[in-house]
Amino acid sequence: MTRNGRAELVWCYGTMDCGKSTLALQNDFNYSNAGRRGLLFTMHDRAGAAISSRIGLARPAAVIDAGFDFVTAVEEHRLRRGRLDYLICDEAQFYSPTQVDQLALIVDELGVDVEAFGIATDFQSRLFPGSQRLFELADRRVELQVAALCWCGAAGNQNARVVDGKVVREGSTVLVGDTVHGDAAPAEIHYELLCRRHWRLGVTRTHAAQQGLFPL
Ligand SMILES: [Zn+2]
Repeated sequence: MTRNGRAELVWCYGTMDCGKSTLALQNDFNYSNAGRRGLLFTMHDRAGAAISSRIGLARPAAVIDAGFDFVTAVEEHRLRRGRLDYLICDEAQFYSPTQVDQLALIVDELGVDVEAFGIATDFQSRLFPGSQRLFELADRRVELQVAALCWCGAAGNQNARVVDGKVVREGSTVLVGDTVHGDAAPAEIHYELLCRRHWRLGVTRTHAAQQGLFPL
């Protein structure tokens, strides 16, 4: 909330492993301790119906899908439960631009603070559509400054998709989970933070260890 009491839409973004879910949970803790009432949302979180951070914290959260309407949900919540002061929205890069528009409307017309947390760019180094809309609409844009590093020690700024050990730069924007079943044999997928150079060269932590560049 701003000093003049107006609600605001805040976009907190960073790379993988930059601590965004940890900050989302910390903010929720601080606000609820101060007597404010909030709701937590996520999409495609690795922990299911929760906002979870890699350092072990987790809180239950509503899991939304592409058809979810934030405005209706907030209005219904207020009818049933009364007051609502803020929303914490994690994995917001996966939200549709329409859903981000809904978040802005909730701020402007319903006076609810919205903090959205997410990754800015995808494995192709392009903005996620939801992240782009948040850059366009947010009252404040906060780049999270936790130093997440490539294996080489340089600043990690690319969220690489690694399929069967190889960095890939084409494919659908959203692909979550450890395996996909296509025409070929199931593939193992994970995401890894790399510097721009090693993302371009396709050198993962495992490759570096195999070449003796890095002790795994
Ligand atoms: Zn590197």
